Amino acid sequence: MAARLGDVIDERHKAEYRELRAADLVNRRIARPMPFGNTINPYRGCSSGCVYCYARYTHDFLGHNDPIEFERTIYVKRGDPARLRKSLERARRSRTLVAIGTATDPYQAGEGRFAITRGVLEAAARLPGLRLSITTKGTLVTRDLDLLRTIADRSELSVNFSITTTDVDLARKLEPRAPRPDLRFKAMRALAGAGITTRLFIMPVLPCLTDGEGNLRALLTAARDAGADGAECNVLFLREKVREFFFESLSAHFPELLPAYRELYARSAYVPRDTAREIEARVARLAAEVGLTSRWRADRSETRTRPANQLSLIW
Ligand code: SF4
Repeated sequence: MAARLGDVIDERHKAEYRELRAADLVNRRIARPMPFGNTINPYRGCSSGCVYCYARYTHDFLGHNDPIEFERTIYVKRGDPARLRKSLERARRSRTLVAIGTATDPYQAGEGRFAITRGVLEAAARLPGLRLSITTKGTLVTRDLDLLRTIADRSELSVNFSITTTDVDLARKLEPRAPRPDLRFKAMRALAGAGITTRLFIMPVLPCLTDGEGNLRALLTAARDAGADGAECNVLFLREKVREFFFESLSAHFPELLPAYRELYARSAYVPRDTAREIEARVARLAAEVGLTSRWRADRSETRTRPANQLSLIW
């Protein structure tokens, strides 16, 4: 199914790209309490290489058992444009949200070369009445300002910027090849200034690393100043395979935090409920103080049939 894209190797981002034929770029939601009905992830794998990335384990399904391969071998999805249009029309009829970038970043470095996300937006721009969201750390999103403006005029659109810290050095350790946080805020400002709804996604909040008042207040203040419409947060989720990868990175950069993390995630992929609630309450209080509305991720679920705080990867 996957073919190498010639010699498409990105030395700077240490990534090799392969083509992946996809019957349909749009995936329908499975039975999870997530706030979207359809998802689009134009890439599998992500060169940004965030050490906490919960999608790493999904490369197992492509035969890559080492979690580092998630950031080194990137699959570029090629879909049928007619099928994409049909799927978007179906989403429009049902008024369900189409969420772009639920598992991997649609504006990661490879998008500059392959423009798969742009192709999706071109299709969406021709279909008024959609409900769309985009989640990204990529400043490349500003390249598509023209299309985003058109979509926002005719459809419901929100662009969510994932930013976990304002500390550049810390961001380098956690998100080694993602754009700097200040550049993400600059992109947010550009979109908000063009009248596009933007949100700050503090996802994930990392206990003992990014959950302090100082960092959260700085993030929320920067988002407000950039024109964000609101903020959302989610505390770090660490499923087994990702947990070991993350702990390795932790022991390299913050060995003193390892015992606390082992304790926090000893029983589950989630921190204890009280810890999560405390962090969410802190975000809500600080957001109110700086004048932003906030919510945590499960607040915006369309259904409540399963316990909150679940994550979904829909390809
Ligand atoms: S940008 Fe998002 S998808 Fe990419 S590695 Fe980071 S968390 Fe994962």
